[in-house]
Amino acid sequence: MKCLFGTTLMLIAMQNNFAENPVIKDKIATSKGELTVAFIGHASLMFEINALVIHVDPVSDEGDYSLLPKADIVLVTHHHGDHFDAEALQKIMKKDTKVFLTQKCPWSSAIGSSVVMKNGDVQEASGFRIEAVPAYNIQHMRSPNNPFHPKGEGNGYILTIGDKRIYIAGDTENTPEMKALRNIDIAFLPMNLPYTMTPEMVADAVRAFKPAILYPYHFGSTDTGILVKLLQNSPETEVRIRDMK
Ligand code: ZN
Ligand code: ZN
Repeated sequence: MKCLFGTTLMLIAMQNNFAENPVIKDKIATSKGELTVAFIGHASLMFEINALVIHVDPVSDEGDYSLLPKADIVLVTHHHGDHFDAEALQKIMKKDTKVFLTQKCPWSSAIGSSVVMKNGDVQEASGFRIEAVPAYNIQHMRSPNNPFHPKGEGNGYILTIGDKRIYIAGDTENTPEMKALRNIDIAFLPMNLPYTMTPEMVADAVRAFKPAILYPYHFGSTDTGILVKLLQNSPETEVRIRDMK
């Protein structure tokens, strides 16, 4: 028995090793069925519902996209290398994949077709509403008056799946537009310096728009424990920490 157990463990280890990164997944109920959220890493996410696959910011450094399901929809928040990667995109394209991205993404028609979205634009794909919202720096600058993310360049997205509104913030700070959001069920907020937010800025935004579930993501070496502490008296929001360095 002991021996058999050992063999099973080894098999699991081998499989994991083969797949390199076993992807962690959460399941969330929606009025359209069970939504699976896969935490691929950093800014890269994958949603699955009723056999439909939505990739967000697919990047080869975060996962082996040749092993992941192909996309029905792809959302790209902006052109920076930790969000836009033509190689990863190529691996998940099907003939009818719909890719939504920003003007500055270096898209090539050889990859397929894509739709540029500006802040405020709304699209629909596979019955899901996709709204592009602003993502930008107010405080953190590359050099004086030169933000890492100027307003108007990048998108956050609000993806509506059945009765759930999912906000994927992109690279942004706690902007007035973010703080004015309402009825967000699931929020992904970035938390790394100098590019996005401090835990204090994330907590400030969360206290304002009160998402039901918060996943900090794109957090690099930032201590997520600080955020958990800051939000311990905000019972309307459940903070979920996943491996999204
Ligand atoms: Zn960026
Ligand atoms: Zn980034």
